[in-house]
Amino acid sequence: MDLGLRDKVVIVTGGAKGIGEAISKLLTAEGGIAVIAGRNAADNEKAVAEIVAAGGKALAVTAELGNVEDCKKVIVETVAKYGRIDGLVNNAGANDGVGLESGNPEKFMQSLQNNLSHYYNLAHYALPYLKESKGNIVNIGSKVATTGQGNTSGYAASKGAINALTREWAVEMLPFSVRINTVIPAEVWTPLYETWINSLPDPTEKLASITSKIPFEKRMTTSEEIANTTVFLLSSRSSHTTGQILYVDGGYTHLDRSIS
Ligand code: NAP
Repeated sequence: MDLGLRDKVVIVTGGAKGIGEAISKLLTAEGGIAVIAGRNAADNEKAVAEIVAAGGKALAVTAELGNVEDCKKVIVETVAKYGRIDGLVNNAGANDGVGLESGNPEKFMQSLQNNLSHYYNLAHYALPYLKESKGNIVNIGSKVATTGQGNTSGYAASKGAINALTREWAVEMLPFSVRINTVIPAEVWTPLYETWINSLPDPTEKLASITSKIPFEKRMTTSEEIANTTVFLLSSRSSHTTGQILYVDGGYTHLDRSIS
């Protein structure tokens, strides 16, 4: 299936690692151009070099997305280089463990800044270009918005807000044919996940216990599986899909785990 993504310019936040890296690589393999925006310049450059070596096109923009000015810079540098924006994948984020009891008001606001504000800021600054291209936005959310997890108020609030904004933005953008969708992962093996599981007392036992509860095939979702759905949503093959929250999670969030 031709996804019609040739030379489409798509910003992928956190596009150098984990889920974002898989999205950047699949998008460019489909002929699109990935603008990889993340805080670690070396990671970004490495991802771009790998894409170019594979025959693809990509640009690295160093940005700490918690800063509004850096969000603006991502849009300015993208437009300066390519003159257009066809898609935005809001993906960067981290489960930072700011709990109701363990956190405090300052840490809570900082977590929103790191996990939520840049989704809005980038969408806001990209909007004139997305309206021009009739482009679209795919947000990467989390099952935590639906299930809770405990001890992560800032991250859960951010992911809950992202689900709400998916519907809110989809409605606001109807007159402009700009689509907004969200993909929800649950358990995906990435550098972030590895760091988290290794912070627990018995990572091996914990991982076995988690995977045994994933209904479909008792295995983690791969980053490539998240990327497949994300890139499909970016493409014109999903031209009548907007305001949707899609769970790519092996049934983890909605199926009855006690009988599977
Ligand atoms: P990852 O392996 O840590 O990759 C995320 C990338 O984004 C990293 O390059 C990271 O840089 C960058 N980044 C994060 N926050 C940033 C910021 N404020 N400014 C600039 N760059 C930033 O994470 P992942 O597991 O692929 O997660 C990607 C998305 O999926 C996140 O939104 C996460 O909430 C969501 N998700 C993941 C899972 C899972 O099981 N992995 C489950 C549910 C939801 P550094 O390396 O410097 O931190």
